[in-house]
Amino acid sequence: MLGAILLLFYNRVRDENQAPIILVAFGILAMVISDSAFSIETMLKTYVSGGWTDFGYVLQNLLVAVAGVWQIMTVRKVSEIKKMNSTLLDMMAGLFSYLPLLWLAGLSAMLFDRHTRPLPMTFEQIYGFTITVWIVVVLRQIVTNVDIKHMLHSIDEYIKTVHRQSEDLEKINAGLEEEMALREEADREKEKIAEQLRFDALHDCLTQLPNRTLFLDRLDQAIARTDRIGISYAVLILDLDEFKHINDTKGHVAGDDLLVHVAERLKKCLRMNDTVARLGGDEFIILMENPGDKDTIIATCNRILDEFKLPFAISGDVDVFISVSIGVVVDAQNYEKSSDVLRDADIAMYYAKEKGKSRYEVFRPELRDSTIKRVIIENELRTAIAQKEFSLQYQPVFSLTTDSLIGFEALIRWNNPRLGRQMPAEFIPVAEESGLIVEIGEWVLQEACRQLKEWHEKFPLLNHLVMNVNISGKQFSRPDFLKNLQTTIETIGLKTRSVKLEITESLLLDNKLRDSNFFNTLRQMGTLLQIDDFGTGYSSLSYLQHIPVDVIKIDRSFIKDLGDGNKSSDLIRAIVRMAHSLNMETTAEGIETWEQKAILTGMDCDYGQGFLLSKPMDVKMIEEYLEGEQNDMEEISS
Ligand code: C2E
Ligand code: MG
Ligand code: MG
Repeated sequence: MLGAILLLFYNRVRDENQAPIILVAFGILAMVISDSAFSIETMLKTYVSGGWTDFGYVLQNLLVAVAGVWQIMTVRKVSEIKKMNSTLLDMMAGLFSYLPLLWLAGLSAMLFDRHTRPLPMTFEQIYGFTITVWIVVVLRQIVTNVDIKHMLHSIDEYIKTVHRQSEDLEKINAGLEEEMALREEADREKEKIAEQLRFDALHDCLTQLPNRTLFLDRLDQAIARTDRIGISYAVLILDLDEFKHINDTKGHVAGDDLLVHVAERLKKCLRMNDTVARLGGDEFIILMENPGDKDTIIATCNRILDEFKLPFAISGDVDVFISVSIGVVVDAQNYEKSSDVLRDADIAMYYAKEKGKSRYEVFRPELRDSTIKRVIIENELRTAIAQKEFSLQYQPVFSLTTDSLIGFEALIRWNNPRLGRQMPAEFIPVAEESGLIVEIGEWVLQEACRQLKEWHEKFPLLNHLVMNVNISGKQFSRPDFLKNLQTTIETIGLKTRSVKLEITESLLLDNKLRDSNFFNTLRQMGTLLQIDDFGTGYSSLSYLQHIPVDVIKIDRSFIKDLGDGNKSSDLIRAIVRMAHSLNMETTAEGIETWEQKAILTGMDCDYGQGFLLSKPMDVKMIEEYLEGEQNDMEEISS
């Protein structure tokens, strides 16, 4: 049993209350001592029942009983104890803590009893009993101390645990707060994105101006107000002139930058309650609410046109000039639908472009007729090739030094059964806008080359004659243009140098063409290149240095003014000199007087073309002319 007690001590859990075990241990110790004494006394036959030897047994039972009660008190979580009334438990616990004192009280009672009547115990027995009680009290104190120490330790541990837990809670709390802050931030971000989306849906992302949707909404409201309370409005559609050239020559980034600057400048020209929006591309639109009389609206148009006379400083500090054409609708009360307002403002804007750009035009119903005519022309053009409605006239080109014929310019003519005879100025712009020019241009090239080949064969002495063919920008910048050109010339059996392409200056600025080795390939092919209407476009002389141009055709507008002692003489002289220094030749177009011809010859201009020398003629007339030429040559040679 002692061994068992030792084992118990060895394995005891330090945190738990040790007192019951200690009491049991002492009880057993007392029993072992008594038992040993009993064995010895029995051997010596001196054992007397009820003597000191039996005291150990009593003490053992007593200690084990106290230990048992103690244990029950400690393990309060036992379910039966839990169920008990807590005050009763407290009371019992209080009583038990005084148990050793009861013993002392018992001892005192016995001593008192000893004093009054004789006891069956001797003084030694009572003394021994007193010592035992003292030991029990001291033991109880030790146990209490140990218990208190353990309790303090437990409290300490508990406080530490609470501390740790509160720290953990604080951490969790901080985490939660952080998460809440993040969530709030995310909510704010979401709201911002939603706001941006709402803004984007109604605004143009480049210029931040209202877009078509928002504009139409405001216009609808303005129409409704005019209806209800008679407040008027005006609409201005603005389209930048030749914006494509800026994109082609300066690049799209610069183009975008210019649009942003244009938007800023437009805003500057308007009042607070006017709306300026971007319809798309280079098209802007303005809604002037309650704009006053027509003169005030026109004053705004003039203010905008004046603003556009100043250069735009776009990215890379480049100054760019761009003009704008404006179509205006002022008679607000005539409209019920916003789409009708836009249509009429558009018509007026196109009219402004047609009349020379950089101007405004106020819509009037007659303009609608000209638009309708455009639509009719476009429809008729679609079937014109198939119906063989096109023909070519040829205007001779002469050498100004020798007066001899050097070739022709092929000029298209259109005879439509419904519209009658149409001149290129009327239908070429429509064909260009609709893209039909590509098909028409191919037909012109085929027909002009075929005709020249026929004349070369018919009039062999004149097989040096060259055919000038006008090529539109859309046709020229097609990726398959050069291949088609070569195939056409080869199939017909002409020399490549017998064909001279007339292109406008603006194509020289086309970055795509310049970068793609296009012009070099053309030169290798041998086909000649002539810049038509030179001086009216945007080309700078530096471009000419890098592009293999053969001839520069000086625009008719310069020739017209020749001889009046104005600046155009100097200009033409400068162009001729510059062209010669770049190994290029010059043609003057639109020569109408002998004086003009004489001046141009004096300036060393190489070739001439104009009504004075010959008007454009049809095939029959040209053939009569060529026959005369051939006969003259035969006569000279014979
Ligand atoms: P352009 O290439 O500059 O052609 C010269 C225009 O000036 C022709 O007008 C011609 O008839 C006219 N002209 C020639 N000499 C004189 C003159 O002394 N005085 C005056 N006032 N005019 C003269 P047309 O045939 O009406 O052609 C006008 C424009 O149409 C042409 O200008 C050209 O840009 C375009 N065009 C004509 N045919 C074609 C074609 O087949 N394809 C393309 N893409 N454009 C063409
Ligand atoms: Mg031409
Ligand atoms: Mg021309």
